[in-house]
Amino acid sequence: MALAAYTELLTYAREHNFTVGAFNSLNMETLQAVVSAAEAKNVPLIVQTYHVHLDFAGADYMQALCSVAANNAKVRIAMGLDHGQNFEQAKDCIEKGFSGVMIDLASADYDYNVSETKKVVALAHAKGVSVEAELGKIMTGDSTAEEIASGYTDPDIAAKFVKETNIDCLAVSIGTAHGLYKYTPKINFDLLKTLINEVPCPIVVHGGSNTPDDDILKMVKLGVAKLNIGTDFFNAYNKTLADCLTKPGTHEISQALASAREAVKQVAMQKIDLLTAYRV
Ligand code: 13P
Ligand code: ZN
Repeated sequence: MALAAYTELLTYAREHNFTVGAFNSLNMETLQAVVSAAEAKNVPLIVQTYHVHLDFAGADYMQALCSVAANNAKVRIAMGLDHGQNFEQAKDCIEKGFSGVMIDLASADYDYNVSETKKVVALAHAKGVSVEAELGKIMTGDSTAEEIASGYTDPDIAAKFVKETNIDCLAVSIGTAHGLYKYTPKINFDLLKTLINEVPCPIVVHGGSNTPDDDILKMVKLGVAKLNIGTDFFNAYNKTLADCLTKPGTHEISQALASAREAVKQVAMQKIDLLTAYRV
């Protein structure tokens, strides 16, 4: 099947009471790993590539790889741009056949965020492509709980932003952070609940890696639509590859890459089990 729009997967997930995984990939092995995990668990999946990793891999290559995966898979697969930095980057991915794009202008001023996001939405929706935007500041994992809290998303502004831009889903700041946590994360579940109830579009949480399983389960139960996870996969990939290549003796590269791919698949299946814990 062709790539699915985010909206299709998010609607399906809401009807079946689960959270869609948005799993970061940057090459063939990581992409195959997460898609095969989704197939093994019979669940649709968003594959996404971080904007820096698209500079590495090429948006056309990632789209082509994901299209092959989606055509072969028994589950629906979407392909997205993660943390797109500007209109041009989103446009490039839309033109190359991505089924979803994120435009992340959360650190720009509100009016600029609205006007650029609206431009992306107009272009994307004309081609059936979904758009994610962000409000609030999602910090990095070395931040303290206080620093993370200083970037929380304001529910009133978020509701206004969604009405003004007509985006398909909104990334929010509620206590998670990108990368590995230096301090135990403190998720603001009350804020998350308010955002889910009051913002008129599905809510996305970033920084899923290294978040305690119980916290993920609570977020899933509250109705988070999409959970982004990246670092945990890349760490599993790197560690397995390093272990394989530093073993004494000669190394067959395809075996090392296959082991790394399998390690990512195992982590992805564990994450999917959390995201689908209350599936109906
Ligand atoms: P982690 O790397 O912390 O899982 O974050 C992923 C993410 O938010 C991608 O947008
Ligand atoms: Zn993110």
